[in-house]
Amino acid sequence: MKELTCIVCPVGCRITVEEKDGELVITGNSCPRGYEHAKNEYTDPKRMLTTTVKVEGGVLPRIPVISTAEIPKRQLGDCLAQLYQLKVTAPVAYGDIIVKDILGTGVDIKASREMPAKAAV
Ligand code: SF4
Repeated sequence: MKELTCIVCPVGCRITVEEKDGELVITGNSCPRGYEHAKNEYTDPKRMLTTTVKVEGGVLPRIPVISTAEIPKRQLGDCLAQLYQLKVTAPVAYGDIIVKDILGTGVDIKASREMPAKAAV
């Protein structure tokens, strides 16, 4: 059994998900969107990924990045490990794709700010 708070809208219904005779029994939701949210959270939870990536020649040493959609929670660790190894070169524009289709998830990782190149001294 899993209890969760629905985050789809501000009402925040408390939802319970149980397996009975191989079927999911979902209670506490006030609408179908909550049902879908609870089912997804129970069977294959997903999250947005945000982190930073090393940047060479930029005004800052790291650039913040975000996924273009939610990624299965079970793959977040591997995605973060890949991004931790990565180094991009400034300048980087806001929204530039840093990694396309990360680990075959179908989700891209994009820059969530611009990163100008450091001025030559
Ligand atoms: S179950 Fe429906 S009404 Fe309740 S929080 Fe989720 S989306 Fe909102």
